[in-house]
Formats: sequence, structure tokens, C-alpha cells
Amino acid sequence: MGIPHHVKKTIVLWAALTAATLLVTGCTADRPAGTAPTRSSAPTATPTTGTPEDPAATAAAYRKWGLKPFAPAPAPPAAKPVRRAPGGPVPVISDIPTKDKIVFITIDDGAEKDPAFVTMMKELKVPFTMFLTDAAIRNDYAYFQPLVAQGHGLANHTLTHPDLRTLSPQAQRREICDQQTKLTGRYGTAPRLFRPPYGNWNEATRTAAGQCGIDAIVLWRESMQITNMQYQRGDRKLHPGDIVLAHFRGPSELKGRTMTEMTATMLRRIQEQGFTVARLEDYV
Ligand SMILES: [Zn+2]
Repeated sequence: MGIPHHVKKTIVLWAALTAATLLVTGCTADRPAGTAPTRSSAPTATPTTGTPEDPAATAAAYRKWGLKPFAPAPAPPAAKPVRRAPGGPVPVISDIPTKDKIVFITIDDGAEKDPAFVTMMKELKVPFTMFLTDAAIRNDYAYFQPLVAQGHGLANHTLTHPDLRTLSPQAQRREICDQQTKLTGRYGTAPRLFRPPYGNWNEATRTAAGQCGIDAIVLWRESMQITNMQYQRGDRKLHPGDIVLAHFRGPSELKGRTMTEMTATMLRRIQEQGFTVARLEDYV
């Protein structure tokens, strides 16, 4: 009995990866499965920032989390500004062309599964897109079900979180297509967006993503750390259309802070620069 050798090896590798990349940039690794298909563009619900249904209730919900309500997000554009031309290469984006003061929130991997975060997102109705890795969520696919049901975007982040540039085209295709199959089977909706771990990709990644049914490869402009954002641009400011990266992380990775505390801080950083949050799937 005991843990099979290949599993042990995976666990050791995973731990090393996590330690090495934790505070640096996109995508720490996590811990270590599911699977039948439909193509989604219409989720069951659509969270919209600043939904005016009941301003008093919205204000109360935000107060509960130590926040002020966001300005309403503008109406989605009639035509999506990022599109894959028929038969053309999969676009690779770090931001969305727009003049509106909006940003897009993306949350990666899926290691931390804090029930309070599900409640928070239900109450705040701030849209985000989750890029999920099988190795990080296979012990609890069910955690993400209510987030998908709330209408947040479901996206692909590979099976095992490898550096895709080190893999053959065939292996890259397996990492993307097999995770596509798992997510589709598990949640009943086929992801359209893909993010390569660490933001590392090459032309083979693009080809593979296209073959797996992906419409865009999504990178990022800012990365949320524990209390501050890491900016790629020298002016250290959000720009219209920026894609912001965060991770499903808990106290052990956030110096004692919780996922909801990190999220509240991220939302404050966005608000204090005069931005609101829009839904990535409305733009790509
Ligand atoms: Zn990642």
C-alpha cells in the first residue's frame, strides 16, 4: 500500500513548484478529477457590477465586506472587440481595447476553497473568470459549482499546471484538450478562454488551444499579491481594459489573510483608481 511512486513524485514536484513561484508572479501550483459537453455563451445568471435592482441592499452587502458599491459597469459592446477570425490564429491578449474605466478580474488555479468566498461573490455580484487546473481542484470540483451557477466565467488552465514551453505539441494539446473535457463534463459548459500557467506559451500552444476549441489565450496586466498589485507598466496604474490576475489562495499563502480579505483589498485597489469591474466574456 502507501502512496505509489509516481504520485509521490508529483506531490514533491508540486510542493517545489509552489515554494518557488509563490510570491513571484502568476500561478502557484496546488494540490491534486471528473468529465460530456455543451457550448456556453449564456450562463444561468450574469453577475453585473453595480446592479441597480436594490441600491440599499447593494450598499448593505458591500458594507458587510468593508467596501463601497462599485459604479455600474457600462453596457457590453454590441460587437466583441476581441474575436478569433474564422480559421485564424487564437488571439493572445493581456488587456481589452476600450476607453471605459473598466478592468477584468481573473482568478487562477483553484487551490483554496473558502466557502466564505462563494458567499461574498454571491452578495457583491462582481463578475470574474476562474481559470481552473485539474490538479488543484480534483479533490473538490463541487466547490466551484455554485460559482459557475452564479454566472462567473469558467476557463481552462491545464490539467497539471506545466510550463507549456517545455512540452511537445502533442503534450500541450493533451494538457489543454483533456482539461477542456473535464471542465465541460463536470460543469456542463465548455470553456472558451485559456490561460497558460506562468503566462508561458509558444506557437504550438496557440495551435493546440485552437484545436481544443479555445477562442482566446488570456494573459494579464496586473497581478494581485497579498495587499498590493504588481504592475507590468512603469506608471504602476490600472489602464482601461486591463486584465487583473489573482489566485484562489488561503491564509497559508497569504501570510494569514483569507481569500475574502485578499479579494476585498483587490476590489478596493480597483475602486480607489476610479475603475469598475466588467465581465470578460462580454468582450472576448
Ligand atoms: Zn496558475
